Amino acid sequence: MGRFDVSMMKYLTSEDFRVLTSIEMGMKNHEVVPLQLVASIASLRNGGCHKVIKELIRHKLVCFEHSKTQGYRLTCLGYDFLALKALTSRNIVRSVGNQIGVGKESDIFIAANDADEQVVLKFHRLGRTSFRQIKSKRDYLKNRKTTSWLYLSRLSAMKEFAFMKALYDNGFPVPKPHDFNRHTVVMQLVQGYPLCQIHEVADVQQVYDDIMNLIVHLANYGLIHSDFNEFNLMLSDKDKVTLIDFPQMVSTSHANAEFYFDRDVQCIRDFFKRRFDFESEEYPKFSDVKKVYSLDVEVNASGFSKEIQEFDQVLDEMNEERDNFDKKSDDEFEEKECDDEDKCDENLDYKKVIEKFEKSDKKNENEPEQKIIEKIP
Ligand code: ADP
Ligand code: MG
Repeated sequence: MGRFDVSMMKYLTSEDFRVLTSIEMGMKNHEVVPLQLVASIASLRNGGCHKVIKELIRHKLVCFEHSKTQGYRLTCLGYDFLALKALTSRNIVRSVGNQIGVGKESDIFIAANDADEQVVLKFHRLGRTSFRQIKSKRDYLKNRKTTSWLYLSRLSAMKEFAFMKALYDNGFPVPKPHDFNRHTVVMQLVQGYPLCQIHEVADVQQVYDDIMNLIVHLANYGLIHSDFNEFNLMLSDKDKVTLIDFPQMVSTSHANAEFYFDRDVQCIRDFFKRRFDFESEEYPKFSDVKKVYSLDVEVNASGFSKEIQEFDQVLDEMNEERDNFDKKSDDEFEEKECDDEDKCDENLDYKKVIEKFEKSDKKNENEPEQKIIEKIP
């Protein structure tokens, strides 16, 4: 996992950014944006616009597509740059450093702000795994803007920020959210390691209780994390638990709430048995939940409600599709994977990277190299 290379940002002129932004705007209604449209949004002549785009392609911020229609689209990096540019101008981020995590649907980098405080940048990348699996629904989704990874990643970040803020403001052990822009969330750097990398704790029963109590506490506030596992729980030196990763949270009034709740609980039971050979007959049941506050309603009443609802609808569709998908054979899976039409070399073999990251259990292997932090030009 490397460093986020921001060095080329200093060569980008305001015109470059204008064209980049124009492509982004065009992508609201087009999968790929024809040159004429980019030029007209950017108020440039076709020739001038083309020259700028050639530079952007060279820097891998934009790529050319000529499958069905000819035109341009942002790469992940191009989108990252737009978000970084905005966050820098708001003085939320000053410099970016090493990658400290690869999630299923994100890339995590360490960064710093003006006050030299270290923060975490989470770039949401919907479409890397799960979205591919809804390929078969593509035609049905075609006429909705939700097909675009750009749009989904932005919704995902927005939802994560909204929930993280609500949880933080209500005293839950989550990172402090600083800000978000587009598909990027800026939050506090949690000291410690994900539970998946922990092999020894002072008091297993205590950690188990803390974690199970957190599940119940969340549900009493109307929320289920629904991806509550050893990858999304961080443990400090003193075994203090911090919960991360919120795009898939659901309300306790969701139709499948009990299923998600039980699955979260079971994940923890399985992990404790596997890792610490710890089993307990004491574990929370959905019927134990006593709602004391409706944080789910509060978040949905916030400025983000429309987006969250739209995102949740897509998540439900993806889950449904994933269930069907799991029943299919591996052959079909291979076929689907190769079928993906992304042509950019930005499309690394993320699965391998993720596997490697998740398997690594040596603590220092993921120690953030915090010194290598590069100022954003
Ligand atoms: P994903 O949704 O892709 O799973 P996560 O939010 O779970 O993304 O982050 C992936 C990994 O990055 C985590 O398992 C953790 O190791 C690291 N990470 C994420 N957020 C933070 C944070 N605020 N502080 C420290 N490490 C973090
Ligand atoms: Mg995660």
